[in-house]
Amino acid sequence: MKCVIFARVSSKEQEETGYSLDAQEKQLTEHANQHSFSVVKKFRISESASGAKARQAFSEMMSFIQDEDIHVLICEKTDRLTRSRKDAVTIDEWVKEDETNEVHFVRENFVLSRNSKANEKFIWGIKVEVAQYYTDNLSEEVKKGQAEKIRQGWLPTKPPIGYKTVGEKGHKIHVPNEETAPLIREMFKLYASGEYSVISLNKKMYEEGLHSRDGAKFAKSRIHTLLKDPFYYGCVRWNGVVSAGKHEPLISQQLFEKVQSILRSRTTPHHERHQFQFSKMMKCGECKGSITAEIKKGCHIYYHCNHYKNCSQKKYATEHSIEEQLFGVFRFFEAITPKEAERIKGRIRKDHEAEIEYKEQKIKTLNARYLRNERRIDVLFDARLDEKITQDMWERKNTEISEAQDKIQSQIKILKNEDTKYHEIWLHIVDLAFRAREIYEKRSPKDRRLMLRHIFSNLILQDRNVAYTLRKPVEILAKRVQERVDAEKTFELKKPLKNKASNGFSSKNDLLLALKDDFRTIDWMNVYPYPEIALEELKSLCA
Ligand SMILES: [Zn+2]
Repeated sequence: MKCVIFARVSSKEQEETGYSLDAQEKQLTEHANQHSFSVVKKFRISESASGAKARQAFSEMMSFIQDEDIHVLICEKTDRLTRSRKDAVTIDEWVKEDETNEVHFVRENFVLSRNSKANEKFIWGIKVEVAQYYTDNLSEEVKKGQAEKIRQGWLPTKPPIGYKTVGEKGHKIHVPNEETAPLIREMFKLYASGEYSVISLNKKMYEEGLHSRDGAKFAKSRIHTLLKDPFYYGCVRWNGVVSAGKHEPLISQQLFEKVQSILRSRTTPHHERHQFQFSKMMKCGECKGSITAEIKKGCHIYYHCNHYKNCSQKKYATEHSIEEQLFGVFRFFEAITPKEAERIKGRIRKDHEAEIEYKEQKIKTLNARYLRNERRIDVLFDARLDEKITQDMWERKNTEISEAQDKIQSQIKILKNEDTKYHEIWLHIVDLAFRAREIYEKRSPKDRRLMLRHIFSNLILQDRNVAYTLRKPVEILAKRVQERVDAEKTFELKKPLKNKASNGFSSKNDLLLALKDDFRTIDWMNVYPYPEIALEELKSLCA
């Protein structure tokens, strides 16, 4: 009689016991020989094969058996043959089809057929259920393990590039990868600058050394995916749900959000062939259309309305004349002498330090409170384990404390980041304004544009004249400088009166005091929603 052999070995068995497919096949062939079956075909599945491949092998075998009219199937034991209830049903149906159909389970020393005894059929049924249970349980355990991992703040899978996995099995965590983490940081910063498209960013990052494992440049879509991965600012996204992670972030949330807003706006400028200083920065005063630049007579750069709308603005302004007008603004700030500027900056710095000290104290207090709460949770948990408190009580208390902890953490975060950053920003803006002309003259077109963006919120060109709106902090600074200039004038008029000299002097102090208070009146979050980026830009400009 013809028979088919079905051998299956899990990769774990192979690794741990050296029990191989070959050994199993030999055993099954011996069984066939003993019963004088002739082996027509051997089907082998190594468990390392993917689920799809294993299923394919199983259904190939079943159709082979039916096509070739084979009535004996030999395998080692139940769970080798059926990995799911579906497989078992298929086998069951095949056995019921024909009285002569038999499945030999060699190890279990049991033959399944239509004529099997009731107790044998019962045991077969149980074994099938056990196999199914094993499969279900495995995936349930996996899911449970993943959910627990998420709950603890860890990603239950491979981390994105920029991180590596460390630790023992079951306690694996993700830490920044020294090689790739700086590249990821750089990538976010560059994209946040608004100077790169995803394509040019990909090119740039490839040059910097960011590539796939085989050294190839990433696909554009991959860069997109990385730029949108909340893992980088410390969150974990699993099945579409984002929750707080425990791993060390590579970037701040502000930076991440800035990148998202650029990705959304899709107004990412592509690299231009000529980096015109003022293009995309100015608007036509008449039609509000954008101003474009062109090169005439070889090297002269002219700016004019793009005339996409109906507009009578026909005059062209040279780049030089625009610069001259902006220099007028810069020179205005030079009414404050470098020495005075130093004093002002010194004063802001001092305030800043006092503020930092106050904040550090506050952070210390919050940290202590946080630790106290952690201990309270431990105590509660022990009490719950000893059943001194009810589950309800535990849950209520735990939620209560966890919420308090979240609040403390966000308070600490705010104290650590934002306000101190804004103080530093203020300091740098003052520095930038007082040194604007010098900085402008020294820097590249790209830096110049960056600087103009920090000084002006709006630049308008009409009849070759530049009109502008200053950004709020600079506007306030300008107002104070103007007061100072006015005071000087009064002082000059009253010069003959020697005893009034102190008036002129005190105006300097007024200026100092006023600037100090002005800091509080500015809605910083509104002016600079991404303080970290703004500060870094300002630092690089003032360096
Ligand atoms: Zn116009």
